[in-house]
Amino acid sequence: MDSSALVFVATCDLAGQVRGRAVPSPDEPSALRTGTGWVPADLAITSFGPIAPDNVFGSVGDLRLIPDAATRVDIPADEGRPGLRLYLADQTTPDGEPWPCCPRTFLRDALRELRERTGLVVTASVEHEFTLEGLPSGPPFSLQRLRDAEPFGSDLIHLLDQAGLEPETWLPEFGDGQFEITLRPSDALVAADRAVLLRELVRDLARRRGLRATFAPMTDPEGAGNGVHIHLSLRDADGRPVLHDSGRPGALSECGARFAAGILRHAAALTAWTAPSPVSFLRLAPHRWSAGGVFLAERNREALLRICPTTRIAGADPATQFNLEYRAADATANPWLALGALVRAGLEGLTRDYGEPTVWPEDAEETDLANVPALPGSLQEALAALEEDEVVRSWFDPRLPATQLSVKRHELALLEGLDDAARTRKVSDVY
Ligand code: GLU
Ligand code: MG
Repeated sequence: MDSSALVFVATCDLAGQVRGRAVPSPDEPSALRTGTGWVPADLAITSFGPIAPDNVFGSVGDLRLIPDAATRVDIPADEGRPGLRLYLADQTTPDGEPWPCCPRTFLRDALRELRERTGLVVTASVEHEFTLEGLPSGPPFSLQRLRDAEPFGSDLIHLLDQAGLEPETWLPEFGDGQFEITLRPSDALVAADRAVLLRELVRDLARRRGLRATFAPMTDPEGAGNGVHIHLSLRDADGRPVLHDSGRPGALSECGARFAAGILRHAAALTAWTAPSPVSFLRLAPHRWSAGGVFLAERNREALLRICPTTRIAGADPATQFNLEYRAADATANPWLALGALVRAGLEGLTRDYGEPTVWPEDAEETDLANVPALPGSLQEALAALEEDEVVRSWFDPRLPATQLSVKRHELALLEGLDDAARTRKVSDVY
């Protein structure tokens, strides 16, 4: 391992951007104990830089960023650029009490409440698509495009492996310059931490290789979208998977159907957390294989919630692979808040009476699906849905949705008057 002079302690904000502070490496033990300083209003910074004008935190207050030792990642020294040690942190008050607006604490609390009220534990995996700029064009999924991205691809897999992120597949995706990386499923907090880290590791490696990686949901209004697909499964206290029941529609258990019902019921407000950029809703339209409507379906890439395929090859057990995929997320979302909000919505479904959702079979025709509810058509509509959904707002300290609304409305204002091509460019520049 290279020794790094700097240790960066980071959080991820409402814009899904990673920010933090570095300390000299001899101070790492004390930073692990007492953290580094931080400022509440940092949560009100827009993705484009300016702070939202109606920032509820004002200019006062102080926080600590307390690194979680389990999140440690070492970026090795590379071609003249020194190495760096990186930690993700929880935000606390100066006395070390959890800060009620900390996004990572929000996810941890959601997982704890799910466990306490239902005995269930979430396993998750967050799948990312992104665009690598600076490479020749080539056919989708081709060996040629995979090879043209070398040594970036091999270096990335090596880096993720060394960092403990458990890379699973690396592929040249459908869009021009588009790639996808998947990681193995893990405990849900670990999966969200990995999503935060993955985006930074990809962008950092691309810069070192003379490329530019962007996770913007759209880089060109006519092109393919960059999705973030969140895979979820539930286990009971003994570690037994509980989503699978081969006797039911889609082989989705009653518990799974109820969990899905909560996500479907609150879908519109959820997108204000999971797809929160001014261009996210260019991607979330029908026929883009992103999420074309609010429905649950077997193996359908237009569904908001897709029941993923399983295999029995070599004696594999479908129950242990069975998972639901939420497709209306992108990398402008904060992974802790996105996953936490999905867990909260699922918990509402498990504990309220939302009824059984329709499980659309694999052979459902487009005409069959014509009347499924639409997702919000724009970020403005998603934010209005969040304002109206009292259940969703009740999951948060009121300052969090208030800040989400002001940050996101200011981002919209900063792009006002631009056409879709210019808006996608502006968002690509900062993601
Ligand atoms: N690019 C699609 C999206 O925007 C996903 C395609 C796929 O199913 O991998 O979500
Ligand atoms: Mg894909």
